[in-house]
Amino acid sequence: MKIYKFGGASVKNASAVKNLKNILTKSSTPVIVVVSAMDKITNILEKLHVFYLQKNKEKIWQTFDDLYSFHDSICSALFNNNKTPASVNKYFDELKRKLKTNPSLNKDYEYDQIVSFGELISSTIVYEYLNGQDYIINFLDIRTVLRTDNIYKEANIDWDTSKYLISDFVNNNKLPIITQGFIGSTHERINTTLGREGSDFTAAALAYMLDAQEVVIWKDVPGIMNADPAWCKFAEKIDVLSYQEAIELSFFGAKVIHPKTIKPLQNKNIPLRVKSFVAPNEEGTIIKNIDYKLKLIPVYILKENQILLSISPRDFSFIVEENISKIFSQFAKHRIKVNMIQNSAISFTASIDNSNKIEDLIKELSKEYTVKYNNGLTLITIRHYNDEAIDKMIAEKTLLLEQRSRLTIRMVTE
Ligand code: ASP
Ligand code: MG
Repeated sequence: MKIYKFGGASVKNASAVKNLKNILTKSSTPVIVVVSAMDKITNILEKLHVFYLQKNKEKIWQTFDDLYSFHDSICSALFNNNKTPASVNKYFDELKRKLKTNPSLNKDYEYDQIVSFGELISSTIVYEYLNGQDYIINFLDIRTVLRTDNIYKEANIDWDTSKYLISDFVNNNKLPIITQGFIGSTHERINTTLGREGSDFTAAALAYMLDAQEVVIWKDVPGIMNADPAWCKFAEKIDVLSYQEAIELSFFGAKVIHPKTIKPLQNKNIPLRVKSFVAPNEEGTIIKNIDYKLKLIPVYILKENQILLSISPRDFSFIVEENISKIFSQFAKHRIKVNMIQNSAISFTASIDNSNKIEDLIKELSKEYTVKYNNGLTLITIRHYNDEAIDKMIAEKTLLLEQRSRLTIRMVTE
């Protein structure tokens, strides 16, 4: 059995859904299909959640109508009678009922009750379409088998219970099966979500629990690239990656796959393939158990909008254990994401993500330290660097900070 994950872009309109069907028809192994919400629908549901909390009636209903017409027009292009199936309308009715109630004070709880509709609606449309086209597939409401705790918006899977329930479902229902990524439910059967972009993780979790043979993530790129094609003209595809390398790349900020995805797969030695839904016959990238020290081509990762903070004790004391732990506890308190650090005798430097929390952090640190900062910077990471790769990236740029290890160079530039 394989797990196929189709993200938002692979179900963004009627022709994408038709293409998904062609991919399934050609697959020779039985599959479980995990789908995300269509296109950028999760972003729209996030807005709807905010309007709901604000009790902004006008915006709520305007957004609801937009959501409905988006899906309705896809349905009219997919179904012979041009109608939105009753099973889909049922979710819109449920969402409507929810939107008519008053929000509780638990924002994250409300988020999960609203945002989870994206996946429910998209998987139902795809399910109805496939069955109508004589591709017989079973529907699984993943909330009946994927149990989580109640940390809303970032729920954690209860692996034992979920494994028991999903195995039972798979034993009693024939493959193929279609289900949702990103969502689950608590033991009390309240909707939860696993964190943005969490569908990759759902696919990996199902593979782990069911001992699948492979996970395939279908994307609009040929595979995992050595740089983001959006800014890089020389981006090329990487054929093979080790689990370790994939985790390192996502840690440094490559938007490869959801960072939590690799661990369950590595634990059971299940390969992960990233493939293009536009060119399904091509190999894509495979992530598997290989020697991670294998030499790769240079991989470039950019993190923009960085602030370089320079912190020095006012009393000229050394930056050693005590000061470092004080500084870090401030970072943790203000939930600041630190990407790179360096220290000298009396100064500590950190490259951090810019956010609206910075002002408070600086205010607090300034009580004991002189704090200087530089903003609008870019942090460039190159894995498997060489001189040519470095030159390509820093030509005509001012280098403010640099750190090298054997495999990785990181540079903060203006
Ligand atoms: N639809 C969710 C999101 O956009 C989950 C996913 O796509 O993986 O974050
Ligand atoms: Mg997505």
